Amino acid sequence: MYTLGIDIGSTTSKCVILEDGANIVASSLVVGGIGTSGPEQALSRVFQDSGLTREQMDGVAATGYGRNRCGETELKVSELTCHGLGAHFVFPQVRTIIDIGGQDAKVISLDDAGRMQNFLMNDKCEAGTGRFLDVMANILCIPVNDFGDWAAKAKAPASISSTCTVFAESEVISQLAAGTETADLVAGICASVAGRVASLAKRINIVPEVCMSGGVAQNSGVRLALAEAIGQPIEFSPLAQLFGALGAALYAYHKIK
Ligand code: ADP
Repeated sequence: MYTLGIDIGSTTSKCVILEDGANIVASSLVVGGIGTSGPEQALSRVFQDSGLTREQMDGVAATGYGRNRCGETELKVSELTCHGLGAHFVFPQVRTIIDIGGQDAKVISLDDAGRMQNFLMNDKCEAGTGRFLDVMANILCIPVNDFGDWAAKAKAPASISSTCTVFAESEVISQLAAGTETADLVAGICASVAGRVASLAKRINIVPEVCMSGGVAQNSGVRLALAEAIGQPIEFSPLAQLFGALGAALYAYHKIK
């Protein structure tokens, strides 16, 4: 039995095809989220890579910010449920998920069976999201994918005190003008995002083990700063950005079964 999960986010579109709710047959990730051709591209890539067709899918579930704009036949399911299912599939021992995506951050508590018990979300302020990192990457002319390597080279991480992206932007430009090293600025920017998300996480009972999901999980600068800020190690999987799509494919499997 094949099930397909589609996660249409604010900045990226992701797909996962699962066989019998157990094996990942193929996945795709395309930059371009809601309102772009990203979802269509992600779908054609996952079918191309798997050699399967839409007709061969026994169930399809859509999640993410753009899930309601995705066809009419699919099941629609919340990102919270999907990140919980996806994270539990990869890390059955995880009880707390910290999801940082393009435009929001969420902290999700799971029970032993991987069911969501509680959550907190910041979707009001860019400061603790991937968007903040993307804006800063633009100013520094460094791909956000390289932030982890830069942060690791920092000798004295800069302090970024502004809570608003626009003010933080001018703060970074002033520090660049004052001669602050790029590595120190990148480490400061990562620590600033980590600090904001840690404050959110501390409002929920952080039960170990903890993992990250969402695209920002790939940024080791944020990951390490966050682990320090919450005082817990954070599990990382290269699949972290696909947890939503994986969870949607699992949801479709359980619905059909
Ligand atoms: P959404 O689902 O809202 O589209 P994602 O969970 O896909 O968001 O996360 C997108 C964010 O992930 C981007 O804003 C970017 O900051 C970050 N990101 C994506 N890929 C990488 C990478 N390879 N290294 C570091 N950060 C990344």
